This record gives sequence, C-alpha cells and structure tokens, in this order.
Amino acid sequence: MTGAESLIRMRLRVEQDVFAVRQLGREVARAVGLEQQDQTRLATALSEVARVMLAAGPDGDVEFIAEPNGVPTLRVAVGNPRPGGVAEIGAQLVQVGRLVDTLEVGDGESGTVVRMARRLPASAPRLTPERMEDIRAGLVRHVPGTPLDELSAQNQQLIAALDEVRAQRDDLARLNAELAETNHGVMALYHQLSDELEETNRGVVALYAELDERSLQLRAASEAKSRFLANVSHELRAPVTAVIGLTRLLLDPASDPLSSEQRRQVDLIGGSAGDLLTLVNDLLDLAKAEAGRVEPQCSEVDLRALFGQLRGTLRPLATRPEVDFVVEEPAVPSLRSDEVLLARVLRNLLTNAVKFTADGSVTLAARAVDDDVEFTVADTGAGIPAELHERIFEEFYQVPGSKAGTGLGLPYARRLVGILGGSLRVDSAPGAGSTFTVRLPKS
Ligand code: ADP
Repeated sequence: MTGAESLIRMRLRVEQDVFAVRQLGREVARAVGLEQQDQTRLATALSEVARVMLAAGPDGDVEFIAEPNGVPTLRVAVGNPRPGGVAEIGAQLVQVGRLVDTLEVGDGESGTVVRMARRLPASAPRLTPERMEDIRAGLVRHVPGTPLDELSAQNQQLIAALDEVRAQRDDLARLNAELAETNHGVMALYHQLSDELEETNRGVVALYAELDERSLQLRAASEAKSRFLANVSHELRAPVTAVIGLTRLLLDPASDPLSSEQRRQVDLIGGSAGDLLTLVNDLLDLAKAEAGRVEPQCSEVDLRALFGQLRGTLRPLATRPEVDFVVEEPAVPSLRSDEVLLARVLRNLLTNAVKFTADGSVTLAARAVDDDVEFTVADTGAGIPAELHERIFEEFYQVPGSKAGTGLGLPYARRLVGILGGSLRVDSAPGAGSTFTVRLPKS
C-alpha cells in the first residue's frame, strides 16, 4: 500500500454516527471522483458495516484512505476494539461485499477491522498531493446533517436509481424491438432463399425428366432407324440380285446376240445394280450391328493365319505397281476374339487404304501394347484433315472429292470394334497418309 494516505477519520460511538458515517462516506467518494452510483454503493456499504460494527460493540472508528499510485483506489477501514468477532461479522457482511470491489474482515492491531476498497474510474482527476490537501480541507469543513437530511438524500438517490432503472428498461425494450425486427428480416430472407432453392430444385428435376424423355426418344428413334434400314435393305436385296442375274443372262453368249449399244447399256445396268447391292449389303450389316444383333463368337485367333488370309484376298485389289502392299509378320501370335468380325474390320480398313493411295505403300501390322493388341493399317495416301477425323465415322459421310463409295464402311468398322470390346481411331494429315488403329483386349 505504498503512498496510501489518510484522508479523514471519525469515531463510531452511537447509532446517530451511522448516519454521519454514511454522509461522510458519500462525501469522500464524491471528493475523490467516484461516479454517482458508486458513491451511493460505497455509502450504503459503509452504513451497513457501521451498523454491524456498532452492534458488536461501541468505540469504533472509521478511516478513509486514498491510494493515488498504481490503480487509484479509495479504501475504508472500520475498526472495533472488541477482538474475536471476525467470523460473526464476516457472515453478516456477505451481501454488502457485492457493493464494493473488495471487503475483508480481519483481526487488527486492537480488535476487529473491516477493510473495503473501491477503484476510482479512469475519468477521475489525478490525486496529486495538492488535490489531496484540498480534499482533506473540504472534508474537515463537512458538517454532518440530521437524520432527516440523510432521509431526504436517500430519497433523492432512490429516485435517481428508479430513473436509471426506467431508462435501462426503455433501452431494453428498444433493443428487443430492434432484435425482433432483425429477426423478422432474417426470417424473410430465409423464406425467400428457401423459396428460390425450391424453385431451382423444381427446375432441375424438370430438366432431368426432360433429359430422360429425350434420351428415350433418341433411343426409340435410333431403333426405328435401324429397323427401317434392315427392312429396306432386306427388301431391296432380292430384286437387285434378280437384276444382276438378268443382266448376266442377257450378256451370256448362249443368249440372243445384242447390238454393241445394247451390250453397253446392259453393262451399265449390271454395274449400277452391283453398286446398289454393295450399298444394300453394307446397310444391312450396319443395321444389324446397330440393332445389337451381332453376337461375337470368340475363340483364340491365330494372327499369322489371319494375316495370310487377308494378304491372299486383298492382293488382287492392290494391282497398281506404284503401291506396295505389305502385310508384316504379326508381333503377337494370337488373341482371343471373333475372327470373322476382326477380319471384316481389317479388310474394310485395308480396302479403304488401297482405294485412297495412289502411290507408296499400304501396311498391315500387329503389336502388343500393355494388355492389348494394336492393329495398324497405314497408308501413304492423300490423308484426311484433322477436323474430319470424327466425321468420317458418321454414316454416309465421305470426304469431298473422294472416290465413289457408300460412306458406311468406317461407321460399320467402328461399331464392330465396339462389339469386340475395343476402339478404332485415326491419325492422319493431308499429304502425310493415314494410319487407322484398332485396339483390342488380348483376352
Ligand atoms: P467409303 O470408303 O465407302 O466412302 P468409309 O466409311 O469407309 O466409306 O469412309 C468414309 C470416308 O473416309 C471416305 O469416303 C474417305 O473420304 C475417307 N477415308 C477412309 N479411309 C481413308 C484413307 N485410308 N485415306 C484417305 N481417306 C480415307
């Protein structure tokens, strides 16, 4: 308690002194700069302590001490010469302790002492030595009033406290109203958001339903197309075959001789009918593959034998001396697949390569890649621009300026490779030739 200085002392002998102590307490509290409410708290605590001490025995005294250093604090010590009452007095002052920062009851040098302390607010003027002197002088001049004065002062305090309570209640009501309004706003926002969310959800659900519907329609359309192609091509095959048969008959040496003009025209009819039969057969194959009516029959395929067979059937097509037709030794001896379908795919690719290569070479090869086998049909032909690499797999698509064909070979080949569980891709650029790659699982 360095720097603690006594401000004033007073005796505590008779009941009247309790009022006087209370008044003095408030006066000291005001003088050192405690706020109005704290002045009342300290005065009330002090009058309670004085009352209890007086009841314990006469001849007590009260000392007010200011502590200007550190956290400026006002201390009050209320002493009573009768020793040994600590526990009893302490028990009576439990509630009072709440009115101040600290309240302790202890044995003093001569009897029992109650010590209280209250910190001064930061706004209080500093307790300089001069100010301490002023305060002391003021307190000495302080004349204690009568109990009536004290009653009136207490009434004033009560009114002030009631005013304060009312102001706080008004504040609380205002805060509550604000809170209710905010809640209202939050609820409105929440409802708006959940409405929006619900609407979005409904939109998404509707979109999904539409998508499902569209994909059903698409599947139905694709099935209808395959059925139509299969039926039409099937129906066309018989009459076209009959036309071819009739032209052969007309050209037969055993038949009636034709004039050279008639022979030329029958030749044209036969050629066109042949083209038509090719188209019809291609359409029928594709329609069957698309309708899922091609069931692969898998067995161990001997690739050397397959390559030998392809070499034999395609050599007659590769008649131009400028084009080397090369069938390499397969680097993989065999794989498990459908031999007929695989042969059909490779024949298709090789026929294209021969058809679209004016000079250079056409090469068939097979090698293992990871767990798969890759077949490549590479040519040194005109090549295909990158933007058409996917289009050539569409039905009836032909690169503009291409030789006559049906535009059905590649879509059919890709479909068959899919049925075999593999993939078909092309690498090509104009002037750099084309390489078609069939990748199939080894087993
Ligand atoms: P088609 O050969 O009967 O016309 P395809 O479906 O087999 O039908 O091929 C589609 C088109 O792709 C061909 O018309 C051609 O323009 C192009 N094409 C296919 N293979 C090659 C190739 N090896 N080199 C260059 N173009 C090719």
